[in-house]
Amino acid sequence: MKIVMLGAPGAGKGTQAKMIAEQYQIPHVSTGDIFRANIKNGTDLGKEAKSYMDKGELVPDELTVRILLDRVAQEDCKNGYVLDGFPRTIPQANVLDEELTKLGDKIDFAINVEVPDENIVKRMGGRRACVACGATYHIEHVPPKKEGICDKCGEALILRDDDKEETVKNRLNVYHEMTQPLIDFYNGKGVLKEVDGTVDPSVVFENIKKILG
Ligand code: ADP
Ligand code: ADP
Ligand code: ZN
Repeated sequence: MKIVMLGAPGAGKGTQAKMIAEQYQIPHVSTGDIFRANIKNGTDLGKEAKSYMDKGELVPDELTVRILLDRVAQEDCKNGYVLDGFPRTIPQANVLDEELTKLGDKIDFAINVEVPDENIVKRMGGRRACVACGATYHIEHVPPKKEGICDKCGEALILRDDDKEETVKNRLNVYHEMTQPLIDFYNGKGVLKEVDGTVDPSVVFENIKKILG
């Protein structure tokens, strides 16, 4: 099963992708997590990605596509994966589509998590992330058991540099311009499914399970 998560920054793609990955035993592949791990480890890739991420801009397609194709070529992705944050542009979607076609394969589901922009800006200020394991929390909606500490690995939680209000606004603009057209792209391929992302995360997940079967 190969799944793409669509939706604005903060719509809950990562939250749902992690639940899908656990339920269906497939890897959760997040380009944002890969970039953040590289930033943390001080790699050249991390340095380059950070210069775009801090401004709320997209990392160039060429670099992002290379990272993603490397990742999905790994053994654990053989039986499927859930992509979170990729593709984010039409050229990225086209490359993925071409690579899958070469393998006689395709994306089975593109799940669009719908949340209005007004909710997004409020949500992001409350997001807390664990850079060690990729877990995500929300100070009100999805609090960790112990304030500021990751439930899963015990590391300190951070407010992401790019979750500041000004950067979020730019990310939303970039989303509408560059990423939203993917909804039509996957609709045209007959694999688009929409879910309401404004309800409780567990309810969103129930609705996704109904789609995936
Ligand atoms: P969110 O989950 O809030 O949407 P991500 O973790 O997916 O954020 O992405 C954070 C940042 O990483 C993006 O704003 C962008 O700069 C970069 N990024 C992640 N994935 C991609 C991608 N597929 N193409 C270009 N840039 C990306
Ligand atoms: P994305 O990967 O789309 O950027 P995340 O999964 O990181 O989004 O979620 C963004 C923020 O909103 C996080 O703080 C997360 O805990 C919280 N969140 C996720 N889903 C919901 C939901 N259904 N209702 C309220 N808050 C949510
Ligand atoms: Zn953690």
